[in-house]
Formats: sequence, C-alpha cells, structure tokens
Amino acid sequence: MKRLVLKFGGTSVGTIEKIKKVANIVKKRFSEGHQIIVVVSAMSGVTDDLKSKSDSISPNFDNKELDVLLSSGEQISCSLLAGAIIDLGINARSWMGWQIPIVTNVNYTSSTIMNIKTDEVVNFLKGGVAVVAGFQGISIEKRITTLGRGGSDLSAVAIAKFFKADSCEIYTDVEGVLTTDPFMNKKAKKIDKISYEEMLEMASLGAKVMQPSAVQTAMIDDIPINVRSTFSEKPGTKIISEGETDYKKVVTGIAYSKNNAKVSIVGVTDKPGVAADVFEPLGKNNINIDMVIQNTSLDGKNANITFTIKRADLKKTLNLLEKNKQKLNYNKVTQDDKLAKISIIGAGMIANPGVTHKMFRSLASEKINILAISTSEIKISVLIREDLTQKAVKVLHKTFKLD
Ligand code: ADP
Ligand code: ASP
Ligand code: MG
Repeated sequence: MKRLVLKFGGTSVGTIEKIKKVANIVKKRFSEGHQIIVVVSAMSGVTDDLKSKSDSISPNFDNKELDVLLSSGEQISCSLLAGAIIDLGINARSWMGWQIPIVTNVNYTSSTIMNIKTDEVVNFLKGGVAVVAGFQGISIEKRITTLGRGGSDLSAVAIAKFFKADSCEIYTDVEGVLTTDPFMNKKAKKIDKISYEEMLEMASLGAKVMQPSAVQTAMIDDIPINVRSTFSEKPGTKIISEGETDYKKVVTGIAYSKNNAKVSIVGVTDKPGVAADVFEPLGKNNINIDMVIQNTSLDGKNANITFTIKRADLKKTLNLLEKNKQKLNYNKVTQDDKLAKISIIGAGMIANPGVTHKMFRSLASEKINILAISTSEIKISVLIREDLTQKAVKVLHKTFKLD
C-alpha cells in the first residue's frame, strides 16, 4: 500500500464529463489498495473569469479580497469531484485549504506554504479518498491566500512533502513534459526523464506545464514528480534529481514567453552607482527585471542601459524613469513592447561547446534578428520579435534534433 498524491489540473476537470472520468481514475487507484489524496484545480477558464470580474471593478482590486475571489473556483471543482467519487461508491470528502489548514505566509496572491496539518486527513485516508482544493491556503492572519497562477502544482508538491507521500502525480492534458509546447510545434516529443534543474529552467522560462515554485519545492525536498496525461494510460515524464538523468541530448527542451518589453536608457553617465539608481525605484515598485545589457561609449563617458520586463509593467516603468529623469540624467528612453523570449534548455550544454553559435546560426537562417541574449550554464535565452515566436521554436526544435 502506497500513499499517493494525484493532482488534476483545470484542463482535466474542465467539464462534468471530465470530472466523471477523473473520478474513475481515482476509484481505480483507490481500489488497488493505495491511500489517495487528490488535489484539484478550478475548472479551466474559471480563474481567468473571476480575475476579469475583479479587473472590471478596479485594476488595483484589493489583494486579500482577490484571493477570496480567485480561490472560489477550486471550491466548486473540489466538491464536484468528491461528489462524483462518492457516486461511484467510494467514501470521499473535500477539504478547503483553511479546513486542513494549509498555512501560508501573508504574501497575498503568491503565498508560500509554511505548514500543513496532517492528522485529520491521515485519519480519513484509512477508509476514504481525501479531495483537497489546490491553489489556496490560510495565512497566519486567518485570511484566505492563493499560491500564484498555476499554484495547484505547488499545493500537490507541498502536500506530498508534508504527508510523506510515496509519489506525486501531476495529471494534465498532455502526455507529460514535452520538448516544447505542442501548441507551438506539433513535432514536440515527450521527455521520459528530466532533472529538477532543467525543469525549473523550462518552467521559469515559460513552459507552463509545471509552476516554477512547485518545481523548486520538489527540488529542495527531493520529491519525485510524475507528469502524465488524464486522457491516456501512457507513462508520463519523471522529474528527478540530476544524478539519475542521462544527457544524451545537448538540448532537452525549448521554452518561450510572450508579452515581453524592452526599455533602453540612452546616454547615462558611466560611473559607479548609475545602474543601481536606474533599477532601485523599479525594484521597490515590484517590477521584475529580466535581461540587462549595458554598453559604454568609446570615450568611456556615457553608457546605454537596456533591460527587459513584462509588457504589463511597461507603463509603470516609463513613469518611474520619467519621475527620476533629473537624478538619472539620461538623453532619452526608447521602448519596444512586442517581444518574445525564446530559450533552449539542457544540462548537456555544459559539456558541449558550440551550442551558442549553432542557436544563433539557426535563427539567422530564418532571418530572425536577436535583440538581447542571456545565458546560464544550462540555458541560452534570446529576445526576438513576438510574431516570430513560432518560427523560432520550430527551427530550433529541428536544429537541436528534437523533432
Ligand atoms: P493544467 O490545467 O493541467 O494545470 P496547464 O494548462 O497549466 O495544465 O499546463 C499544460 C499545458 O502546458 C499544455 O496544454 C501545453 O500547452 C503547455 N505547455 C507549454 N510548454 C510545455 C511543455 N514543454 N510540455 C508540455 N506542455 C507544455
Ligand atoms: N486555478 C488556478 C489557476 O488557474 C490554479 C491552477 O490552475 O493551478 O491559476
Ligand atoms: Mg497548470
């Protein structure tokens, strides 16, 4: 007998038919003699819908009330699924985050799980299936919190950790983690095994099949994850520690993120402290800076600082730069807001020189201009025009033999 955490994403519970299908999967696993904790997301589209309602009241809708609103989608799917399991003759019960409780910090809309009480659920598991609402918790101030978009993945991993589960299975609408998003390139192939490090890069760089914080938590606590399909019996992808993976391929996967913007500050004085002066007000206003490039004039007196941000932060960024114009003493600011970031990821890159030029040559063959570059040991990212995203993903997928 094993203790399993089975997480079903919004795409797996998007309709009543699908909820019934999930109930049957749960029944099968329970009947095999396992203890089952199900973690469930809101039916697909529901969270977006709720968010658009609060947005239409105010773009600055109160964070704490937003969490009360957004978490409500999971209450619906959780009760529907528990009811569907009961209807199949299996004892089941739903739990909202606050009932367990799943205790989080006070970082509303993107909270971190601090603790999960286990005794009541553990007791129930002896004779029934526990169905837990993903994405939500309760803060130490006794207010409802959510874990950031896609946060049911984090709920599942944290529950697997606190309940000392034997495995954590993430059921979704694709076969597992693929070499790239199948909606961008039909030639995407399932990856059998991927290291936490590579998966963390993939997720952070846009592969939304797993939430980055969930991968990070799994990596820290060494919780093996299996990403698999709700709609097929095929084995999925194992996310495991680096030692257990083999790096036959130089590049494991390709990720992309759209909605990027680039800002260039032209003609600041090149002296210590200028970059700090540029980025300090942005940081204090919660604007995340991604890529940064600085180039200096030939006489060494002036510099241009270019950086990328999310498109949604562009207006705020430009306002802050304007506000600080006197202190920063720049000539002008230029911007471009229709950009995408394309990344190739692979631990095999460490031992294989020449990947960078191969990537750039491949993009050049499709006449795709590179606007900025950033690298780490296991990834290379480039900034390009957003309308060229699919073209870039496809050519890189082919170049690195992932087709
Ligand atoms: P869920 O509702 O199960 O949480 P998500 O929509 O959050 O599902 O994540 C699954 C989706 O992630 C897939 O439908 C796919 O379009 C997208 N995706 C992006 N990159 C990848 C990738 N590398 N592998 C698999 N899926 C990916
Ligand atoms: N329902 C939440 C969202 O859409 C959480 C999740 O799906 O994991 O972000
Ligand atoms: Mg998801």
